[in-house]
Formats: sequence, structure tokens, C-alpha cells
Amino acid sequence: MNKLDLPRLSIVVTERCTLKCKLCAEYSPYYKPQPHYTLKEVETFLDEIFSIVDEVGDLSFSGGEPLLHQDLWSMIAYASKYSNRINRLLILTNGTILPNRIYLLELQKYYSKIWNKLRFHISDYGPALSANADYLCQLCEELCIDYRRICYHGQDMFHGGWVDYGDHSKKYHTMDEIKAHAIKCAFRKDIFFVASSCRYLSRCNRATYRKYLGILPENTSDIVDIYSNVSLTEKRNQIQRLKEAKFSESCAYCNGLCDDSIRFPPAEQIK
Ligand code: SF4
Repeated sequence: MNKLDLPRLSIVVTERCTLKCKLCAEYSPYYKPQPHYTLKEVETFLDEIFSIVDEVGDLSFSGGEPLLHQDLWSMIAYASKYSNRINRLLILTNGTILPNRIYLLELQKYYSKIWNKLRFHISDYGPALSANADYLCQLCEELCIDYRRICYHGQDMFHGGWVDYGDHSKKYHTMDEIKAHAIKCAFRKDIFFVASSCRYLSRCNRATYRKYLGILPENTSDIVDIYSNVSLTEKRNQIQRLKEAKFSESCAYCNGLCDDSIRFPPAEQIK
């Protein structure tokens, strides 16, 4: 059997967040109600995904705001079971919450294999919103945790700001139009997977949300259900096809993240 690796896999552990960003790329504020997954659901997902794929490059815990999840540290401790098959473990945070130092020290003491792969990605929306970004960076330095601070304010704003993925109306109609558009999107140039509902794998959060809205059909080829009744070989083939796909059904409804996309101020809050 050929090796099946996922270069990047992001597990959405909660759609709850400390912010309500109008242009949230994950659409977290727009889920009603906002899903919040249990420790058991995430553990079961990890067991299932590692029974299907061989390795994951960057495994991210994301949201919403993952530091809001009371069981995040237990989830990471559980992921240590697969530490030899994970290159790096990321926590994607918005800099609003300081992680509990005691939990971090426990992770350092008892789960050193995963601890050594830990990295915080801190999206910094400025002191008014990301009030704990400075403290979090200090904490990472103090505990020798790898981190990356992504500045979304001021003159050196990352990527010049955020984009608006659009209103979900159909924008591209023929296969050629969809392909020509999708090829310009950063989410197609890179191989990125997202796991939603602790069971669905897709290449993009927009596809997941469009399925939730009913814009994409239940059996869309954009999404692989890792608990479906097909054989292991077929699941691996489905994931491999997703990995190789140059575009998805969702791209027909999407502005995408393109070099020439109009940029907007990041993290504008819904009133
Ligand atoms: S254009 Fe396609 S790949 Fe890019 S963000 Fe939209 S749905 Fe995702």
C-alpha cells in the first residue's frame, strides 16, 4: 500500500470563540448553535484518522478559540500516543486567553514527546482584541515553547489583511471557469485539510460551512466521512483523491484567497 500523509490537518475542537469576527474564515460566529466537541469525540477521531493515514505533518488544534476548550490539554496529551507520526503540533489562538500554566507544566513533565513538537500560532489583532498576545509570547519564551506571532494590525499587517470569501452565491458555472478560479486560491496551492464535526475531512473550511448551509449536497465530493462504511482502502483512496483535487465543488461559490483579492481590516467585530 502506498504511504498516505497529510501535510497539514486542522481539527476544529470548538466553534465557540472569544471574538465575533465578521469575516471569520471558519464562519464560527455563524454556526447556530456553535458546536463544541467532547474529549471523547476528539480522541476517537484521532484514533480513526491514524488508523487511516500514515503521518500528519502539522496537526493543529483550532476553533473558534481552542484555548476556550476545557479539555484541550487532555486532547494534546492523547495525541502524544501518535507523536512519532506527527511532525509538529500547533495550537491556533487569537491571543485573547492565557493558557493555564499548570496544565502546560504537566504536559511538559509527562508528555515530553508531544511537548517537544508544540507550537503556538498567535494571531495578533492588536491590544484591544488580542489583549494577552504579549503575555502568551512571554510565557512561550519562559517555557521554551516554539511560537509564531502573526501580526494582523499596523503597517506590517500579514498578507495586507483579510479577504471576504463571499456571499455563497454561485459565481463560476462551467468546469473551466471553476478550475481557472480555484488555481489562484492559496487553499488549492497548498495541501491543507480540516476536520469538522470530528468526522468530516475537507480541504477547506468554506466547503464544510457550505455543506452545513445545504449549498453543497450531503454526498459532496469535497468531503470525506472518515466513519463511512467503506473499506479502509477506499477511505485512503477518497482522501488521496481529495489531496490531488485541483478544485472543489465549493470553489464555484467562493471568492477564494487570491493574490489580487480585496483586503479588509482583520477581525472586525459583529455588533
Ligand atoms: S476558492 Fe475553493 S479552495 Fe479557495 S477558499 Fe474558496 S472553496 Fe476554499
